[in-house]
Amino acid sequence: MSPIDEEQIQGLKGLRDFLKKRTSYDVLPLSFRLIVLDNDLLIKKSLNILIQNGIVSAPLWDSQNSRFAGLLTSTDYINVIQYYCQFPNELDNVEKFRLSNLREIEKAIGVHTIETVSVHPSRPLFEACSRMLKSRARRIPLVDIDDETGRETVVSVITQYRILKFIAVNTEQHTSLLKKTIQEIRLGTYKNLATCKMTDSVLDVINLMVVHNISAVPVIDKNNTVLNVFEAVDVIPCIKGGAYDELKSTVGEALTKRPEDFQGIYTCTEGDRLESIFQTIRQSRVHRLVVVDDDHKLRGMLSLSDILKYVLFHGEEGDYFPPS
Ligand code: ADP
Repeated sequence: MSPIDEEQIQGLKGLRDFLKKRTSYDVLPLSFRLIVLDNDLLIKKSLNILIQNGIVSAPLWDSQNSRFAGLLTSTDYINVIQYYCQFPNELDNVEKFRLSNLREIEKAIGVHTIETVSVHPSRPLFEACSRMLKSRARRIPLVDIDDETGRETVVSVITQYRILKFIAVNTEQHTSLLKKTIQEIRLGTYKNLATCKMTDSVLDVINLMVVHNISAVPVIDKNNTVLNVFEAVDVIPCIKGGAYDELKSTVGEALTKRPEDFQGIYTCTEGDRLESIFQTIRQSRVHRLVVVDDDHKLRGMLSLSDILKYVLFHGEEGDYFPPS
């Protein structure tokens, strides 16, 4: 085994030990706000609340039964759009749907129901990551039981992004050992890439995301040069106020509706080391990296789940996931 291989294994071991010693509580900032939406809220109103508060997801609360009712994410809005496309005469009803109707919508179009997986905040972070990867969720609610009432309480929600940031900020001694390039460790997706053009309709891109089960589609020109990335969250401003007709507009138009504080897109090359990817995560708000060549032509996509999966499980055998 080469010294680089040895260092890589040592780095991964350090990261795994770290994730087993820390809990989800450790990832939470000292003070934070949590916006929880009542399950009885109109879907249309929920959109405005997300937009006004600059957030893209929220836990749902079933106030009749005092229970956590799942996590609302951009995927749910995409499902509502799919429903509207399959049943265009139902627009009046779509307007009246409440968040508690999301399950019916999801059943009607035959997709997975709203994410209900959760984890206790004092369980090891490694477990929270495993559960997220297993359920393909990008975020997981932290649900505790109130000592006095015995009822569930939603403490917060942690995302793959927060966890990778936490790793990047706190474990430089381990991440600096990850000297292999992403090409050497075959990190990311390079075949059957879903792509779109600026002139494609938003609806077409939404369909691509649903069919491939992905959260972002690179926007390229006719020479395969990367111009931008259309993300699942970019759908939210498009349907603000129930304006489903705007989905027929182009990707180019939709991208102009991004919030002012949009952080931009991040790229890397196949020759980049994982160490430097962690440096980018440490310094910026990265939700995925587009892999490009020296001429900025598309080569692949590197998602946060690809990185997290590698950190947790590369080289491990057997069943990775603890029983729920
Ligand atoms: P995440 O789960 O981190 O949000 P994605 O849903 O975008 O990321 O990615 C899920 C998987 O699909 C990853 O393995 C990623 O490499 C791959 N992937 C991401 N974007 C695309 C794309 N446009 N075309 C094909 N595969 C993709």
